[in-house]
This record gives sequence, structure tokens and C-alpha cells, in this order.
Amino acid sequence: MRGAILHAPRDIRVEQREDPTIEQPTDAVIRLAATCVCGSDLWPYRGIEPVSGPAPMGHEYAGIVEETGPDVRTVKPGQFVVGSFFASDNTCGICRAGYQSSCVHRQPIGSIGTQAELARIPLADGTLVATPGVPSEDLVPSLLAASDVLGTGWFGASAAQVQPGKTVAVVGDGAVGLLAVLAARQLGAGQIIAMSRHEPRQKLALEFGATDIVTERGDDGAAAIKELTSGLGAHSVIEAVGTQESMLQAIRCTRPGGHVGYVGVSHDVELPGQELFFSAVHLHGGPAPVRRFLPELIELICDRAIDPGRVFDLTLPLEAAAEGYRAMDERRAIKTLLRP
Ligand SMILES: [Zn+2]
Repeated sequence: MRGAILHAPRDIRVEQREDPTIEQPTDAVIRLAATCVCGSDLWPYRGIEPVSGPAPMGHEYAGIVEETGPDVRTVKPGQFVVGSFFASDNTCGICRAGYQSSCVHRQPIGSIGTQAELARIPLADGTLVATPGVPSEDLVPSLLAASDVLGTGWFGASAAQVQPGKTVAVVGDGAVGLLAVLAARQLGAGQIIAMSRHEPRQKLALEFGATDIVTERGDDGAAAIKELTSGLGAHSVIEAVGTQESMLQAIRCTRPGGHVGYVGVSHDVELPGQELFFSAVHLHGGPAPVRRFLPELIELICDRAIDPGRVFDLTLPLEAAAEGYRAMDERRAIKTLLRP
């Protein structure tokens, strides 16, 4: 099969890879209907995360089950399935509490690499959720978005305790931030403030349900949020970047007693203890347990209640993955969908 391999920073190539096979009785092999490039793939692509030798890339996936191991019970060949970026058993105490991305048996899909024609998915029963029937082609981008960016934005909104009628601010205008806006709207937020200085992203944020746009960053951004919230700060703030500046911005945008949901993968973030102490905010986040939300998200997508696939503003054949990475790196694209 063909698959994307990162050889060194900014050196991504689509090459011949060995076809995956069933290795464990709980595995499934799926044929990707579509795959994509994640904002978090840009960390190793840019060399900010070390690259040690040729690494298969990609952890987002949706497609048709080709083959299952002898112990797989809940998914069958021919079904269309969506899963998360961590395989999970969905039965341990952590999974049952809704934190499948911290499952005691979790396995990262990123090391398998789903920017490919086929992928082996471990713990298939716990990881994969089948759609009702094979979806029509136009739903595939939205179902793929559920695999990570929608589920992650949704967890951000859930962790930030978004409530009907309350005020929400979103730090970050990548796919996750934009879909956190969509999640906040679905969860009934009153005022939704998207923090973005990039016009096409502002437009999509407004279409997903943002009521206000703030273009300032850092302390100016926090001051702008205070101004829009009678000087109090937002009830709920979703942090979808993962840098020192964005995390402090999120905390400073939140009113005392409010909640920060942080889902941007943290890079060199250090929190000043005294500021945290006097902020009196709740912090909750981490790798999103997307699996918790998948059944609900798949239903909303198949009912056409939400259209998260609109974050894909560039579609390329898998063979052109290198251009897909470049376009996201240079912020010419919000998110690249790859067709195997
Ligand atoms: Zn588990």
C-alpha cells in the first residue's frame, strides 16, 4: 500500500509500505475512505518535536472494515467505522469513566500511521464505532473530522463546562478551535467569542456559531474578552493551541469560578503558581477522550445536524501529502483532507 512517511523535518514522502495484517486477535484492518493532516502533525514536521528516523504519519481515520481478528465481536467486514487517535479497550475503569484516551491498554494510532490506504486498528471492539449503514460520500469529511478535531473540540467544550446561555471564549482558530465553537453552539452557549486574526477562519467561526470575534492576543486579548463580558471574563474558555501564551491567555480570559478546557497539545507550558492561585479558575483538559463522544457525534453528523467537515478547505490525493503539509504549515489551509 501507499503511505506517508516523515523522514526529517519538512521531508514527507508518500512511499510503498507493507500492507497491514491482523497481528492480534482483537485487531481490525480498515481501508481508509479518507484521512487527513492534523495540526499536531506539524510539531514533528516543523522539527519542534524530534523526528527519529522514518516515521509513518497520521492518526485520524474513517473507512471500511476489511478484515477482523477472531476475537472481534462488534464490528464486521464491510461496515463503515470511525475511531479515535488512541485505541482503547473501552472496558477498564478509566474507559468506563469516560477517559478512553488514558485507557490502561491504550495504543497510539499515530505510531501506526493512518495517512495510508490501509491501517491496522488495535482493540477494534473498544475503539471503532460503526455508522448506521455505509454513509453517502458527502458525509465522509464530517465523519473523518469526528475522529479527532471535532471530538477534541467537543471535549474542550465539555471540559470547560459549557452551559446553555453562558459565555464561551475560544483561544485558537485551527480546526479544533473552530469546532470548539461548533460544539459550544450545540451545547447551547449564549455568547461565543472566537479569538482569531485570520479572516477566512473568522468567517467559518461565525458560520459555526460564534457571536463575536476578538483579534487581539495575549493580555490585549484577555482585556478584550473582559470588555465583552462586563469586566468579568468568560464562564468557559477553550484553549486549543498549547503554547505558554495561549494557556495564560485562556486563564486570563476566564472569570473567577469559571472553567478552562485545554486541548491544545502542551509544548513547554509552565504555569505561574501564584497567578493560578488567585485566578480561582478550574482547569481540565488533556488528550481528548474522543471515543466517549463518537456515538453522539456520528448520530449528529448522519442526521445532518452538524457539518464539521467544512474545516477541510483543501482536498488532495494521498500522493500529494507533502503539499498538504506545506499548505497547513504556511497557513494557506485550515486542514487538509487526503484521498487514498
Ligand atoms: Zn480502557
